[in-house]
Amino acid sequence: MTRSAELFSQAKQYIPGGVNSPVRAFNGVGGTPLFFQRADGARLYDVDDNAYIDYVGSWGPMILGHNHPAIKQAVLDAAENGLSFGAPTEIEVTMAAKVVELVPSIEKVRMVSSGTEATMSAIRLARGYTGRDKLLKFEGCYHGHADSLLVKAGSGALTLGEPTSPGVPEDVAKHTLTATFNDIDNVKQFFAEYGDEIACVIVEPVAGNMNCIPPLPGFLEGLRALCDEHGSVLIFDEVMTGFRVALGCAQAHYGVTPDLTTLGKVIGGGMPVGAFGGKAEIMAHIAPQGAVYQAGTLSGNPVAMAAGLASLTELQQPDLHLALSAKAKMLADGFKAEADKAGIPLTINQVGGMFGFFFTEAAEVSSFAQVTQCDLQRFQQFYHLMLAEGVYLAPSAYEAGFISTAHSEADIQATIAAAGRCFAKL
Ligand code: PMP
Repeated sequence: MTRSAELFSQAKQYIPGGVNSPVRAFNGVGGTPLFFQRADGARLYDVDDNAYIDYVGSWGPMILGHNHPAIKQAVLDAAENGLSFGAPTEIEVTMAAKVVELVPSIEKVRMVSSGTEATMSAIRLARGYTGRDKLLKFEGCYHGHADSLLVKAGSGALTLGEPTSPGVPEDVAKHTLTATFNDIDNVKQFFAEYGDEIACVIVEPVAGNMNCIPPLPGFLEGLRALCDEHGSVLIFDEVMTGFRVALGCAQAHYGVTPDLTTLGKVIGGGMPVGAFGGKAEIMAHIAPQGAVYQAGTLSGNPVAMAAGLASLTELQQPDLHLALSAKAKMLADGFKAEADKAGIPLTINQVGGMFGFFFTEAAEVSSFAQVTQCDLQRFQQFYHLMLAEGVYLAPSAYEAGFISTAHSEADIQATIAAAGRCFAKL
C-alpha cells in the first residue's frame, strides 16, 4: 500500500470524504488521491517520493511556480512582525493601490480570504446597490459555494454530478437565473423577461470550471451592453483569470470593462486571499462607508498580503504573460500533434496561461453542452496514464489546466512526449 493510500484511508475516518475540498478526492477520475509533502518550481513531490510536473498549480495561485524565493521571503519577513492584528496595516494600502493600478475596472477594492467570499460579497453589493434581487449566471460556471451561486454550478459540483446542491433553499435559488454561456441571444431573452429585476450578471470571462471555454467574439461585449441598457451590474469573476490571462486580467485581454471584479487565487500567491472591487460609486455602498454589510476577522491579513503583493510585483516583469501564453500554446500544439499521430480526436482551448483539452470529434468547443458530450472515460484513462508518467493534471475533466513561469521548455517537451506515449495506449 502506498503512503498516499494509507493516509487517505486514515483521512476518511476524520474528514468527510477524506478531503477538505471535494475535487481533491479524485471522484472525477477514480482511484486514490495523492498526498503531497512538498513542491518546488514546476514540481510536486508526493509522500511516496514520486515527482510530478504540476499543471494544477494549487488550482491557480502558483503562477510563479512553487516555493518562489521572493514570495517565501515576503511571508517569512511578515511573520516576524506578528501574524494578525485585526486592525489596519500599511501593506493593505500598498496592496489595494497595486490592485487599482493593475485592474482596469477597479477604483476601490476590499480584501477577503477566499474567492467564495469575494463573489458572495460582490453579489450582495450589486443587490444592495440596485435594490433588485435577481442575478444571472451561466450554466457550468462556478463562483464558489455561496447559496445563490451554487445553482447549476461547474467545478466540483459538476464533477460530482450535483450542479445544484441540496441545502440551497428554493426561496434563494429562485432568484438565480441560469443562462447559456456564449449564447448572447439566450441572455437577451432573460433580460426581455426580467430586465428590470436583474441586479447583476456574474460571469467567468474565460470559463475555467467546465474545462476551459473562452468567450466567443461579442459575448462579453453583449453582456456589457445588456447590463448598461437595463441598469444591471456586470461582474467579472476573475478569481481564476485574474493576473493570469493578462496582467490586467481577462478584462484587459478582451477590452471589456465590468462594473465589479472578483479576484482570488493568484492575488494571494498561495495564501488565502480574495478581493472584490470596481467602480468607486458602487463600492461606496460597502460598510462602513455604506450600508451593505461585509466583514472579515482575517481580511487583509498581513502575512497573506505580503505573499500577494510579492506575487503581483513579480508578475509585473515585462512580457511575463506573453511568455506564459507561448508556453501554454507550445503544450497545446504539442498535445494536438501527438493526438493526431495516434489517431485520437482531441480539441484544445488555450488563453494565456490557461488551457483545456477535450476528447471529442468537435473541431471547436465553445459551449457547456459540448463539454458534457466529451469522452469522459477516455479522459479518466488518459489521466491515470499521465499520472504514471509523472504528470499531474487536474483530476477532473471540468477544470482548466495552468502553466507557471517555472515550467521550462524541457518540462513542456517532456509532458508532450509523455502525452504521445499515453495517446498511443488509449
Ligand atoms: N470563482 C471562480 C471563477 C473560481 O474558479 C473559484 C474556485 N475555483 C471560486 C470563485 C471560489 O474560490 P474559492 O475556492 O477560493 O472560494
